[in-house]
Amino acid sequence: MQLKILEHPDTFLRQESQPIEEVRPETQKLMDDMLETMYAANGVGLAAIQVGYPKRICVIDASASKDKPIFLVNPRIIQQSDLTLTGEEGCLSVPGKLNKVPRQTRVKVSYMCYHGKRLEKTFYDLSAIIIQHEIDHMNGKLCIDY
Ligand code: ZN
Repeated sequence: MQLKILEHPDTFLRQESQPIEEVRPETQKLMDDMLETMYAANGVGLAAIQVGYPKRICVIDASASKDKPIFLVNPRIIQQSDLTLTGEEGCLSVPGKLNKVPRQTRVKVSYMCYHGKRLEKTFYDLSAIIIQHEIDHMNGKLCIDY
């Protein structure tokens, strides 16, 4: 089911999202809906807060084929590169606007996957940038704030 994407300046987007304790069937249903919504909007990342759920959940897909989604529940950056890259970033909640944002090119992230399993994984380049963008959403921050 496609969900409605909230847009700036909706103040709902400015609240801090809360961690979830465990991945339940309804959490997975939300993740499925977030993925469908993200693909329909031609996005590469979507945080739950953007569709009205202030929970620390996001989905990203940096693949060209748009068939390699990664769900991250309670993502936390535990290590990052010193090297940053400044690129033009867009956001489904700020349509038609790009903003230059400096991001780390490599981040090691601890998170729970779609199945509730705890993982640690290192992400690079576009995937790393998208995860930092989505964690910003979870903290009420938008790319236009930079
Ligand atoms: Zn965004």
